[in-house]
Parts: sequence; C-alpha cells; structure tokens
Amino acid sequence: MTTTTTRPRSYLVRTMGCQMNVHDSERLAGMLEAAGYVPAATDALAEERARAGDTLAEGADIVVLNTCSVRENAADRLFGNLGQLASIKRGRPGMQIAVGGCLAQHLRDGIVERAPWVDVVFGTHNLDVLPALLDRARHNAAAQVEIEEALKVFPSTLPSKRESAYAAWVSISVGCNNTCTFCIVPTLRGKERDRRPPDVLAEIEAVVAQGAIEVTLLGQNVNSYGVSFGDRGAFAKLLATAGRTPGLERLRFTSPHPAAFTDDVIAAMATTPTVMPQLHMPLQSGSDRILRAMRRSYRSQRFLGILERVRQAIPHAAITTDIIVGFPGETEEDFADTLRVVSEARFASAFTFKYSPRPGTPAADLPDQVPDDVVAERYGRLIELQERISTEENQRQVGTTVDVLVAEGGGRKDGDTARVTGRAADNRLVHVALPAHVGPEEAPRPGDMVRAEVTHGAPFHLLADSGLRGGTFEVRRTRAGDAWQRARDGAHDHGGAAGAGGTVRLGMPRVR
Ligand code: SAM
Ligand code: SF4
Repeated sequence: MTTTTTRPRSYLVRTMGCQMNVHDSERLAGMLEAAGYVPAATDALAEERARAGDTLAEGADIVVLNTCSVRENAADRLFGNLGQLASIKRGRPGMQIAVGGCLAQHLRDGIVERAPWVDVVFGTHNLDVLPALLDRARHNAAAQVEIEEALKVFPSTLPSKRESAYAAWVSISVGCNNTCTFCIVPTLRGKERDRRPPDVLAEIEAVVAQGAIEVTLLGQNVNSYGVSFGDRGAFAKLLATAGRTPGLERLRFTSPHPAAFTDDVIAAMATTPTVMPQLHMPLQSGSDRILRAMRRSYRSQRFLGILERVRQAIPHAAITTDIIVGFPGETEEDFADTLRVVSEARFASAFTFKYSPRPGTPAADLPDQVPDDVVAERYGRLIELQERISTEENQRQVGTTVDVLVAEGGGRKDGDTARVTGRAADNRLVHVALPAHVGPEEAPRPGDMVRAEVTHGAPFHLLADSGLRGGTFEVRRTRAGDAWQRARDGAHDHGGAAGAGGTVRLGMPRVR
C-alpha cells in the first residue's frame, strides 16, 4: 500500500441491504486489513446515527459504501450520502471514497459522473480489486471505475474480517437463475454459482474452530443448490452434514424458494438437532394471478402446504416471510388474497416492501403501475394485520423456556432492569433480564447462552424476565463467549477501535 504518512490509514465500511452485502463487507474489511489499513474509531452514538441512514466518516481515511439497489430510492440515498461525504472530504486531504455493491454494478461510471469526488467504483463480481484500486486512484490522482460482467473471484476465497466472533455467515452460492419480474438481483449478481460441498464444509469447520457456534448458510435460492453439479438433493445433504460439525450448536439458512422447496429439506431440518426451528419462506404475494405476473412458479395453496408440512415435522418452527405490496396490476381483490394468506400463514414476522420499479426489470415497464397512495394504504393494512399476528404469536410464547444466544451491543436498560439481548432458537429477538445478584463476572458475554422463561410478548420482541422473580435464569459460558472475550481483550491490547469481531483470516482455498 502506498502511503505518505507513517500512521496506518484507517477505513470504515458502511453496508446497506441484505445479508449478502453484510457478508461481502466482511470480505472488504478483511482485504483492507490484510493490505495494512486499520478500522476507524467509531463510537456507539455514531453507529446509532449511521444506522438511521446518516453516513458518517468518523475520521476514516477510506470510506467504503457497500450499496443495495433493491430498496426504494436507493440511488437518491446513495447520492445524498455522497453529498455529506463530499463536505467531509474537502476538510480532510487524502481521504478516499469507494462505492461498491449492487448499485455500483448498476450505475457504473454514472457514480463518478454525478459525484466526481468519488475515488473508486467496483462491482459485485470483483470485490478483490478494492485495495489495488484505492492505491491506483491515489497514485494517478484520478477516479478508478472497474466493473466485471461475471464473477471473477468467489468472495469466499478472499480474506475476511468477521463481524461477529460467535455467529458466522457462510455462502453456499452467489447469483440467481430465477427471473422474478420485479427483481434486479440476477442482473447485478449474475447466474447462480454454487460452491462445492467440501469447500462449504471446510469453511464451516474453520469458523467453528475460531469460536463461532452459529452458522447461517447464505444463497439467493438455497434450494437450487447442487443443480449446477448434478445433485438436486445437495442442499438437504449439506444441511445434515454441516449440522454434524463438532462444536456447531446452531445452523440456519436463508433464503429458500417456495417453488423448489422439497420434503427432503424438511426432513433434514427435523432430524438434524442443530438446524434451528426457523424458516424464512418468501411469499411475495398471496394472489396467484400476481405470482404468475411476478414469474414466481408456486401458487398460494402450495405455499400454505409447505408451511403445514414444516409445522407437522417441526411444531415450534417460527416462519417469517417477504411480501411486496402494489406490484403492477395488483387489484384490491389480489391484495385481499395476500391478506388472506397472511392470516392463514401466521408468520412470526414479515419483511414488507412497497413495490419499487427497478429499471431494467420486466415489471418496471408494465403499464398498470399502482398509484403511490393506493400502495401506501394497502401497505398500512398489511402492517397492521401482521403486527397483530406477530403480537399474538409472541404472546403465545409466554411461559415457554428459551435459550438465547447473547448478541453484542444489545444490552438495554429498562428502568432498573439491565437486560441482555439475543436470539432464541427460533430466531425471535429476546431481551433477558439479569437478576440483581448477577455481577459483571457472572453476566453472560456476547456468544454465551442464557436460559430464561418468556414473560411478555411484544410485536417485535419477547421479554424473558423470569430471573427477576427467582425463576429460571441460567448462564452457559461457551467457546463463542471465550472467543468474543479474546477478541475484545486483543482489541484493547492493540488499542483497536473495532468491536470484538473476528480477526482477519485468509479466504478459503478455491476448488473450482
Ligand atoms: N432471493 C430471495 C427470494 O427469492 O425471496 C430474496 C432476494 S431480495 C434481495 C429480498 C426481498 O426484496 C425480496 O424477497 C422481495 O420481497 C424484495 N424486493 C426485491 N425486489 C423488489 C422490488 N423491486 N420492489 C419491492 N421489493 C422488492
Ligand atoms: Fe430475485 Fe427471485 Fe432470484 Fe430471489 S429468487 S433473488 S427474488 S430473482
């Protein structure tokens, strides 16, 4: 890395969008650290403001924006953020700004044309070029834009700085072969590329050896995993084999597709104790007519049938979903079908989206776009229904005992009650009260497990305050908690500013 000062240059990666982007950001941070950059100091308040959409540079020499183009107004938000960064950059000579991710892949040179103070633009297929482009932009004093049309390097082969010491994402595939008419992902992420099972299993073993006890397998459509290497049953087999990894306690995956979701996967989930009783199953619409127009090949009856079979095999499974409101041509009758399916499905929670035309997708050109006010009104009704169901389902948890994997930074004060926050086995968010007698030494660390009884169900979380009344409260210190502590102590010893995420490690060897 070329540098004119002896102080190492600091970086900040801001992530918008889905888990794929969060995972890619771990690779970006890993590569930057392998190239000699150090994480910029951020404080909790800054993190909070950044989560609220403010892009803070926080003294960073390099700011990387890892963008998403799925959400509404993505481009406006990007250029808004870049506008804020421009004024910071004016006061800080040598600062560099890089833009990557789906929106960069989409807008390409358009980013530097509108925001000439941007130094580097890279795409979804070539994360690996970031350090070299930063060097080249500095050396040539000119913006560098490099976008590839197809995947050059599987991201899993790159160095990684994991966000969390106790839970890890592991990609099983990138890209998508489906052609949902609303979705820009296949255009920007390309055709599906599957990793070979031995590579996936080796990465799981490696992250578990580093202290992770939870792994989430990632792919745009995990059910089609294996089709490329001639094994349609590969995902179920992978789940069962990965689930037997010694030391792994919790295995999750996202996302399956209702069209390709087969019973062998349900069987693997039900018979592999480490596969958690949770399923994210994107519905998108409850209207068969709209599903056809979306080019989603299942119908609402098949969707509900899947939920029924999952619940038969795994009675306590919490099922979540994605729903789009206001797809072109959606009538009140179609929307009523969505409300009906939502009522029957009894999702634990739902990610709800107002349809947003993505330029270049077939649906964006359909004539009968639904007016904004109609979409907003339907959206409000859907949220109201789902919140009522989520509340009822969460209230049904009261009295059950949950094992919560404690997350970082989740501690919240509620009057006199100190609580830690984490996820139950079924992925519900739980705030667990610490009894007064639990001192700092015995308190659960991020990565440890706490067992408590649920005492309250709210729309988006559970409270488990049994420990305050002398009821169930057990802490199990785990390898993951130890790993978190080691990482935190290491960060302190080295004066690091980052959280206690994993250390940088080399990417997995590539077999393909
Ligand atoms: N591969 C996953 C699947 O098949 O469901 C989801 C991928 S997408 C990144 C995440 C969610 O964003 C989708 O499930 C969909 O609900 C939502 N989404 C995608 N494109 C959208 C659009 N143009 N407008 C509104 N929501 C959209
Ligand atoms: Fe997009 Fe459909 Fe592929 Fe999901 S399955 S990424 S919604 S094209």
